[in-house]
Amino acid sequence: MNATLSTRTICCKVALDSVADAMVHATQQAFNRAATYCASVAWEQGVTNKNKLHHLVYGATRAEFGLGAQLACCARDKAAEAVRAARSTGSDTCPVFGADSSIRYDARTYRLMSLDRVSLNTVHGRVVGQLVLGDYQRRHLYDTTWKIGSAELLRRANVWYLHITQTKANPAPDEPTGVLGVDLGIVNLATDSDGETFSGEQVKHVRERRFRHRQRLQTANTRRARWRLRQLAGKEARFQRQVNHTISKRLVQKAKQQRKALALEDLKGIRARATVRRSQRRQHANWAFHQLRQFVSYKAQCDGVRVSFVDPRYTSRTCSACGHCDKANRKTQDQFLCGACGYQANADVNAAVNISRAAVNQPIVSASPVGAGYKLPA
Ligand SMILES: [Zn+2]
Repeated sequence: MNATLSTRTICCKVALDSVADAMVHATQQAFNRAATYCASVAWEQGVTNKNKLHHLVYGATRAEFGLGAQLACCARDKAAEAVRAARSTGSDTCPVFGADSSIRYDARTYRLMSLDRVSLNTVHGRVVGQLVLGDYQRRHLYDTTWKIGSAELLRRANVWYLHITQTKANPAPDEPTGVLGVDLGIVNLATDSDGETFSGEQVKHVRERRFRHRQRLQTANTRRARWRLRQLAGKEARFQRQVNHTISKRLVQKAKQQRKALALEDLKGIRARATVRRSQRRQHANWAFHQLRQFVSYKAQCDGVRVSFVDPRYTSRTCSACGHCDKANRKTQDQFLCGACGYQANADVNAAVNISRAAVNQPIVSASPVGAGYKLPA
């Protein structure tokens, strides 16, 4: 089996002096005009193979748009990928790149140098910029277990940002010695079969507060209120992402330490299965279980932890002690009491144990549903 790859993107500010800034700016315009031209050729002639497209556009890209040989190839690649993506989604319009769209850099057109500097190709020769790195960026960028790949340079509010892609071959998964089952829910976002819970209480609190705030703004419906609403939406998504990162990280670390595989519910059934009180429905529909599962899959792959997905039916109503299955076993949201053997437990823990058992009885899925190309934005 081929090793799968993990991909991540590190976003760094790039400081350029005014001369370099003008050169990069000119390059950005020429590059995106060239990419738009390449895309139009690819679109009209139905060619998205980079080598084939190369012969059709290379001469014109260099002569008409003044790109050097290497940047011309980058423009072609960007165009070919965009056209392929557009066709695969059934779009009927050819991709166009605005003057402020990014410049694609590859191993031949940019280079990381000592002292956090970066050398960039432009239409007027190379320039050297200074990367502005925080702890996070420095730690990730210079982690040599990750291989530096291509990058995208773009400007936002007069600041240049370089989005550097890194890849790493995933380790072959450990042969697991057991399974850590994970039950996802509303009150406890995640509960594992060891009985550890990742509470949703604090999360719930924050979300409730934000929801009421949103409602007030919606009622007000002024320009300022609409602006605040857009801001809040972004804040909410970032908060949710952060929580999901924390939980998935903890789960994968734990499984890794215990040399266990992870088992999660197959979420296709999660909404249909759960009977949710009206007051909880909003949180339930919103909460990104899907994202949490993606994060778990991604991190597990990076760490060589196997993940399997089990059928969620009956996991919450089956007794993990005797196997007796009855809806009445689950007394309340958090209480499980078996009608046959009298076993009592926290309902989520009981479910997590069932999930871990179910995973043992089925083939382990080592390739996660999140493919090798899944990008985890920095
Ligand atoms: Zn029982």
